[in-house]
Amino acid sequence: MRTTEGTENGQGGRTLRYVSNLEHEPGEVLGGGTAVAVEPVRELLTGREVTLGPRGSMVTRTLPHRDRRMVGAWCFVDHYGPERVAGGGGMQVPPHPHTCLQTVTWLVAGDILHRDSLGSRQLIHPGQLNVMTAGRGISHSEESPPDHGPVLHGVQLWVALPDAHRQVEPAFEHHPDLPVLADGALSVAVLVGEVGGVRSAATAYTPLVGAEARLAGPVDTRLPLRPDFEYAALTLDGEVEVDGVPLARGPLLYLGCGRSDLALRGDRPATMLLLGGEPFEEQIVMWWNFVGRSHEEIVAFRSEWESGGFGTVREYAGDRLPAPPMPTTTLKPRGRIR
Ligand code: MN
Repeated sequence: MRTTEGTENGQGGRTLRYVSNLEHEPGEVLGGGTAVAVEPVRELLTGREVTLGPRGSMVTRTLPHRDRRMVGAWCFVDHYGPERVAGGGGMQVPPHPHTCLQTVTWLVAGDILHRDSLGSRQLIHPGQLNVMTAGRGISHSEESPPDHGPVLHGVQLWVALPDAHRQVEPAFEHHPDLPVLADGALSVAVLVGEVGGVRSAATAYTPLVGAEARLAGPVDTRLPLRPDFEYAALTLDGEVEVDGVPLARGPLLYLGCGRSDLALRGDRPATMLLLGGEPFEEQIVMWWNFVGRSHEEIVAFRSEWESGGFGTVREYAGDRLPAPPMPTTTLKPRGRIR
């Protein structure tokens, strides 16, 4: 397993506080992106190494990116690990709120216990999918269970909800088995949406796709895509040649729109995430763990959390996460052309 850019800690015992946006002073994050590429492109977006929490765990954040803030409705991509968590507390993310988005949890290795203010309590393992729809507001915690595995590796993804549905009732879904499109040494697990006629049951509020392509050996094939969607690829493990671009762990490869298929090639076992969707037309504001539409709305969400709102995560052994102070500047909603 590749550990390039990973934060392997041979001593173990480390407490990880990623998965949520736990930056102490989160900056303004504007959406929704620069101009959508209507033609196929191959644009490498280098991720930022973001240090989260008091213990300094590192994640690679490729969305939002300075040059491109969204891919379809996907608005947040954090890739963490593989990191050794043997013998320690592992991940400990205290209760925190979300609004107007869905969180999508996907693991390559390890396990996470999710609890939320709806009363959900769900263990998730690699190959399974958690989708939490925050809608008008929810709070949740994520932690390594007491008997967790030695390595933790995965992605935390957010999907922005469109205006028509962003205030929906909060909901939580666990999908223990996902549909798989198999083609020789390639198997494609469909997390959200549809690939090659194989459709996930996960709830989505905009035309969207998320899939994990796993190469068990040499692969040279073309994956069916939709020309009206924009797409991006992220390697989770090993290396995959995506439309001729060698893609190892690190950057997000933005692929644009206008493709009816995508060339995938690899010689060795590898794992790649494909994200895509109809270009998101609305303007959003992202700050801390909130998505909103205006500065005032974000201020209201923050006050609601600070005054005890967004429900209670029962049985989490610890306090809820306090919101950081608002920035001194006014948060501005932005469209895809800045
Ligand atoms: Mn979260």
